[in-house]
Amino acid sequence: MLDSPDETPMPTETIFSKIIRREIPADIVYQDEQVTAFRDINPQAPVHILIVPNQLIPTANDVTPDDEQLIGHMFVVARTLAAQEGIAENGYRLLVNCNRDGGQEVYHLHLHLLGGRRLGPMLVRQN
Ligand code: AMP
Repeated sequence: MLDSPDETPMPTETIFSKIIRREIPADIVYQDEQVTAFRDINPQAPVHILIVPNQLIPTANDVTPDDEQLIGHMFVVARTLAAQEGIAENGYRLLVNCNRDGGQEVYHLHLHLLGGRRLGPMLVRQN
């Protein structure tokens, strides 16, 4: 419930906040003061890492101009991890899902880093 109509509701924490605070286990491959990167629990490719801002931004819709440096940093971390994982040369995919139609399951912004095999077309064609 909101105390007043002007008050913005607090975003709800997800399991990713607990991973970032190391309260529950995850295979964390990188962490700094801005982002945490860990291996996806249900990998869709030989390399499947999630790059997550430490601060809770629920969806891509919630990104603001104040987040521009953070979002750029997520890409720098992604390309560094791609090189470390040995997939930079052959290539990889960076992906952000937003809300229901985008297939978002966890409402804490994250960049998927996928690679290590030919990933095929970006979308499964419907017709
Ligand atoms: P999305 O559909 O973009 O929201 O993706 C959420 C991703 O988080 C999925 O690929 C899940 O497999 C992954 N995921 C959910 N819970 C965990 C967890 N505890 N540790 C690592 N990855 C997770």
